[in-house]
Amino acid sequence: MIDLKTLSRGEIGDLFQKMGLPEFRVSQLIHWMYEKNAASIDDITEFSKPLRETLKGFSYIGSVKILKKTTSPDGTIKLLFGLEDGLSVEGVLIPDEYRLTLCVSSQVGCAMGCRFCLTATMGLVRNLRADEIAGQITAVRRELQAQGGISGGEITNIVFMGMGEPLRNFDGVVRGIHILTEFMGISKRRITLSTAGVVPELQRLYREIPEVNLAVSLNATTDETRSALMPVNNKYNIGALLRACGRLPISSRRRITFGYVLLKGINDTPADARRLIALLKGLSAKVNLIPFNTYDAAKFEPPDEQTVLEFQQILIDRHVTAFIRKSMGREIYAACGQLKTCHETASP
Ligand code: SF4
Repeated sequence: MIDLKTLSRGEIGDLFQKMGLPEFRVSQLIHWMYEKNAASIDDITEFSKPLRETLKGFSYIGSVKILKKTTSPDGTIKLLFGLEDGLSVEGVLIPDEYRLTLCVSSQVGCAMGCRFCLTATMGLVRNLRADEIAGQITAVRRELQAQGGISGGEITNIVFMGMGEPLRNFDGVVRGIHILTEFMGISKRRITLSTAGVVPELQRLYREIPEVNLAVSLNATTDETRSALMPVNNKYNIGALLRACGRLPISSRRRITFGYVLLKGINDTPADARRLIALLKGLSAKVNLIPFNTYDAAKFEPPDEQTVLEFQQILIDRHVTAFIRKSMGREIYAACGQLKTCHETASP
């Protein structure tokens, strides 16, 4: 059986041509799968019953399902998405005054091994396919439709900050973004991709989709500390990462978000703040400071509030835009790896 959602427009066109179907049926199928969120071929009422039966003889519409939904006190909704092979990934829906942001996963697990990250403890199980990435958005849209919507009802922003390193699933993520933008009406400028710093793929990303927003998980100001926290730094160190960021063709009106998870006694000193200012000099950047969101068996602790405020103030005094993301669930605006932490912390 063919999952129609795994096919590109061209592949659906070839298939329908072989079946003797006119071209407009391709657009109809895409419209029903991605805009009307059809969960099965039977939902496509624009197709005649005989056509639906023919299609059902060899194909189906695959879907990602919401297995679990938990609303946190701050309004953030944690989601567990079920995949067809029985695996699951996590997402978070974040309503605020102006936006409804969905954080999606790009891999089941992650191979990057960041020491502060619960997802890292799973290792990499597999990459998500493009249709599974888009399927997370479709699943939430379906849910919002059923509920009559929340906060305006429409997802406005997508962030790749859930499970996985998106640049280690480059083809799946790029193809997924194409589905979102070409078939699902989501603007590339409303999509943010977060990376731990896979340098070669940064250039490739901007060659293929220059309009997406970039968030970089930095988390340290010396190679010694960053390598201890994030093994990727042994391959692409801070200098290489920031030079690559500086070479990206980003317009002056847009900024790269640097995520900085603050870990007590590890990377939270005034000296770190001053080094961070020096590192970001010349870059079009803003900083999201995320006090570590602790969990059972975590090896780190968050700094106290005063330390966080002082760190932020040092940046602000030197005209570096810096936000503190500390309410539950908001962490994912800046740093992958805090999502799972956020989930664990927020679980009832
Ligand atoms: S922080 Fe992100 S890149 Fe690092 S292990 Fe966790 S999910 Fe992977």
